[in-house]
Amino acid sequence: MAYIEPAPIKDKENPLESMMERFNIAAEKLGLSSEVYNVLKNPAKQVIVSLPITMDNGKIQVFEGIRVIHSNILGPAKGGIRFAPDVHLDEVRALAAWMTWKCAVVDIPYGGGKGGVRCNPREMSAGEIERLMRAYTLAMIDVFGPDKDIPAPDMGTGPREMAWLMDEYSKAHGMTVNAVVTGKPLVLGGSLGRTEATGRGVMVTALAAMQKLKINPFQATCAVQGFGNVGSWAAQLLEERGLRIVAISDISGAYHNKNGINIQDAIAYRDSNKGTLEGFKGAEILSDPMELLELDVDVLVPAAVEDVITIKNVDKIKAKLIVEGANGPTSAKADAIINEKGIMAVPDILANAGGVTVSYFEWVQNRLGYKWTAERVNRRSDRIMKDAFDHVYEASVKYDVPMRIAAYIVAIDKVAKTYTFRGGF
Ligand code: NAD
Repeated sequence: MAYIEPAPIKDKENPLESMMERFNIAAEKLGLSSEVYNVLKNPAKQVIVSLPITMDNGKIQVFEGIRVIHSNILGPAKGGIRFAPDVHLDEVRALAAWMTWKCAVVDIPYGGGKGGVRCNPREMSAGEIERLMRAYTLAMIDVFGPDKDIPAPDMGTGPREMAWLMDEYSKAHGMTVNAVVTGKPLVLGGSLGRTEATGRGVMVTALAAMQKLKINPFQATCAVQGFGNVGSWAAQLLEERGLRIVAISDISGAYHNKNGINIQDAIAYRDSNKGTLEGFKGAEILSDPMELLELDVDVLVPAAVEDVITIKNVDKIKAKLIVEGANGPTSAKADAIINEKGIMAVPDILANAGGVTVSYFEWVQNRLGYKWTAERVNRRSDRIMKDAFDHVYEASVKYDVPMRIAAYIVAIDKVAKTYTFRGGF
C-alpha cells in the first residue's frame, strides 16, 4: 500500500491549526503568489529513523525519531527536539513551520526545524536517555550541522541532552563542534542570558506595546499565568520596570493580591518549595485559576500552556494588552473578539522570540570562539526584540491588521522575498 500522510490536525481550536489559519490570512493580505505559498506550506525535508536501544533490562526497544526542516531559505534550520510519548510527524511539521516564522519575525538568519523522539523520558533511566540521544544524533548526522540544522532543547530535553548531542556529533567529526546545538550547559559554550531570555523578550515587547497604548508602566497592573521559566522572569522584569503584578499562577492555582505581589518573594518561595507556589502566603488563592485571565488588569501575560484564551472566555477578558509568553495561548477563533474589543495582542511568534534570539547568540559566540558578557547579550537581544516589535507595529498600520497578522506578514514577506531572490530550479 502507498504511504499515506497522517491526516492534518482537524481540531479547529488546536494551536497549530490556529497558526495555519493566521498564516493563510497573512498570505492573502500580502498577495502571496500561489507558487510561493505552496513552497512555504510544504516542509523542505522530513526524516524518520528507527532507533534500537538496549534498555537497562538488557532488552532491545525500538524508538521512532523524527526531524523536520520546514525551511532553510533564510539559513540553517533551528528548532528544538522533544522527547514525548505522543510526538508525531504532523505535530513536528507544524512546530517546524512555527520556528520558520519566529526566526523570520526577529530577523535572525535561520530557517525553521523541529525534532522529536517518541519515548517517555520520565520512565527511562539517565543511561537509557543518553543512549537514545546519542543514537538519534548519529542517525541524524547528515541532517544536523552548524550550517545546516541546529537543534535545541524542547519538551522533555534540556542542557544535559544537548551536551550528549554535541559530544556524539563532535566524535563523529573528529573535532569539537559546539555550534551544532544550542541550549548547552555554560561550560560547553552555552550563552549567558539564555535562561531569562524569553521572559526578557516578553518584558521588552510589553513595554514597547504599552508605549503605543499610552499605558504608564508605573501605574499599570499585570497578571501572569504560569510561573515557570518564562512567566517568573517576565513577572520579575516587568515588576522591576514599575508594573504592579497583581496575580500569578502555576499548576497549583492562581494567587491574587490587588496591592501587588512581591515577585522576588514568590520566586524564593517557589524555589524552596519543590518548584511550586502551593501554600504561597503573599496573595489570596483564587477559587478558579482561570479567573486570573479575566482580572481587571492593564497587561495580561499568558506564559503557561497553549489554548487558554478561547471563545469560551475571551468575552470576559478585561486587559488592554495581552503579551503571549506561551506558544499558542490564544485560539484563532478568539482573535476576532480580541480585535473587536480593541485589545492589543502581541503574538507568541514575536513576544516569546527572545529565547531563540539568545540561542542564535550562543551559535554566534561558538562560531567566534568567544564569550559575550551577560550585559552584551541582554543589550543586543533587547535591541532585536524592540526592532522586531517596531517592524510588526509598522506592518499592522500599513496593512490595517492586528499585530498577530502583522507578525505573520513580516515573517512570510521576508521568507518569500528571500526565496524569490535566491530562485528555484
Ligand atoms: P515551564 O515548564 O518552566 O513553566 C510552565 C509553568 O506553567 C509552570 O509554572 C507550570 O506550573 C505552569 N502551568 C502549567 N499548566 C498550567 C495551567 N493550566 N495553568 C496555570 N499554570 C500552568 O515552561 P516555560 O519554559 O516557562 O514555558 C512556558 C510556555 O512558554 C510554553 O508554552 C513554552 O512553549 C513557551 N516558550 C518557552 C520558551 C523558553 O525559552 N522557555 C521559549 C518560547 C516559548
